[in-house]
Parts: sequence; C-alpha cells; structure tokens
Amino acid sequence: MKKENILLTHSSLPTLSIVVPCFNEEEMLSLFYTEMMKVMLLLSESVKDFNFEFIFVDDGSIDASLDVLRNFTEQDNSVHYVSFSRNFGKEAAILAGLQKSQGQYIVVLDADLQNPPSMIVQMFKAVVFGGYDCAGTRRVTRKGEPYIRSFFARLFYKIMVKISDVQIVDGACDFRLMSRKYVDAVLLLSERNRFSKGIFPWVGFKTKWFEYENIERVAGVTKWSFLKLFFYSLDGIIAFSSKPLALASIFGMILFLGTLLFMGIVVIRKIIYGDSVTGWASIVCIILFCSSVQLFTTGILGQYLAKTYTEVKRRPYYVIKEEK
Ligand code: UDP
Ligand code: MG
Repeated sequence: MKKENILLTHSSLPTLSIVVPCFNEEEMLSLFYTEMMKVMLLLSESVKDFNFEFIFVDDGSIDASLDVLRNFTEQDNSVHYVSFSRNFGKEAAILAGLQKSQGQYIVVLDADLQNPPSMIVQMFKAVVFGGYDCAGTRRVTRKGEPYIRSFFARLFYKIMVKISDVQIVDGACDFRLMSRKYVDAVLLLSERNRFSKGIFPWVGFKTKWFEYENIERVAGVTKWSFLKLFFYSLDGIIAFSSKPLALASIFGMILFLGTLLFMGIVVIRKIIYGDSVTGWASIVCIILFCSSVQLFTTGILGQYLAKTYTEVKRRPYYVIKEEK
C-alpha cells in the first residue's frame, strides 16, 4: 500500500514542485530525499501550509538511479519521475522537469546536496510573501574547486557581462525557486541550444539573490570535466551574444589599415632604392598572420552556423523512456 505523504495533500493549498535533474546519482538520491522531507516538514510547520511534489528527471543514468526512483514512487505518491532514453544533459533534464511541474511555485536543485535544501525556506518566503518572482542563489566561494577552473569560470563571467545584453550573474546557480508566471515565461523560450544561466535572466522579473558557500559533494563525482565546461561556456557565449561575429569585421578593418601603411612603405622603398625583392621573411609572416586571422573568424562563423543548424532541425529536446 502506498504511503500518503507525511503532509496531507489538500487541494485548496498551493503546490511547490521540486525539480531534480539526476545523472548517476544512486548514492545520493535517498540522502537527498530524506533531507528534502525534513525541509518540507519544517517549511509547512513554520512558514506556510502547502502541498508539494517531487519531479526527478533521470537523465539516462547507467547506474541504479531509476530503480531508486521507481521505489520512491511506490512508497510516496508525491514523487514523480521522468526517465530519458539516454543522457541528454542537465539543461534538457531541467526543461523536462519544468514542463512536467504543476505547482504554483517551482524549485530546481541538484540531487547531490551541493545546493543546500535548507535555503529553500528563505527562498520560499521571498517568492511567496516578498513579492519576488524568483529567488536565485549565487556561490560566493569556489572552495574545493581546482584553481584553474575557478580562474576560467571568473574569466567567462567577465567576458559574458561585457559582450552580452542579458545580465548574467557571476556564480549564479541553477538552484532557483520560481513562481508559475516566471516558469511559464522560461518555457516560452523554445531554443534547442539551452543555456539556463542566460535564459533565466533573459525573462526578467524581480529576482532576489541568496549567497552561499560552496559545499563539496557528499558522495558520487561531478559530471563536468574541464573540457565539458569549456564547450558549455562557448555555447553560452554563442547563445547570448552575437558580438564574436563582429570580430571578423574588426580584424578586417585593422588589417586593412595595416596594409595601407605597409603599401606606403613598399612604394616609398621602391622609389628610393629601386629594387624591392628582399623581404621574404616579412611576406611569410604576413601570409601566416592573415590566414590564421581568416581561419579564426571563419571558425566563429562556423560556430553560429552549427547552432543555427541544430535550431532549424527542430529535434525534440529529449526522448522519454518511462515516466510516472
Ligand atoms: N546532471 C544531469 N545530467 C548531466 C550531468 C549532471 O542531470 O548530464 C545532474 C546531476 O545529477 C546533478 C546536477 O545535474 O544533480 C549537477 O551535476 P554535478 O554535480 O555533476 O555538477 P556540479 O555540481 O559539479 O556543477
Ligand atoms: Mg554537484
């Protein structure tokens, strides 16, 4: 027999949907669920009575995550899950969770407890009573992270702020509590190349920021390699800025001015000294320089073209294997 939720479901009360992307999190899921239950109990007793639903999105895990989720649904009818046919990435998992959510309030957080569930209490207050449509979180320290990774992350945010129109906040996480209005706006953005860090600020509304210190994983390993993060940041730049495309024109202009100057020198040399055959080294340098600039800018064009290609194919964001 299914156990009723410890907090009785009541139709007149608002619902909080808890969206959790999971990829190979078998070790973390039970810990996460227990922690979340504590927070839900605390929240409904001390802040406001409400219903809640869990929406776990199994992003093609190859471990026993799906079995754990099936188990949860058998024991607790507030638990729902979506399981993908393969790994489609965290962005697709968040999207699937948001699409499946029914609540008036929606919180997205990682299964690894690196997003402290206890923060939901203040975030919930900000959105339910504080007049905000979103309560976002920022990691203020990057403790426990390799130095080189922090350096590049900071550099990425600096570049992003300069070249993009949306206000991407340094250290902002996907851990957010949002109103239905906010989530509906997020779901209106139908792009395939989903970059949450840009999509969330793009929709606007009032966001209250909460800061927290980085927490190391309790179990399991991070799914992000340095290379994966690098390509993810490139995706972000391409999705939210067209400034790199202007680089081609800027380089072109600089080279043109340089060429005018150089031509002047060559002509004057010819007039003064006559023969101007010498200069093999400089010609080689010029050819190498110009062709590398051309390749670089063609590469940028190619990136935008590739993204346009995936957009026009309009493939589904994910394929569902099983859901409940
Ligand atoms: N995740 C996912 N799909 C992926 C990679 C990660 O759904 O392809 C989930 C993962 O299970 C976790 C969250 O996204 O709940 C954050 O992943 P992770 O902890 O590996 O990232 P980090 O905390 O290192 O940024
Ligand atoms: Mg993590």
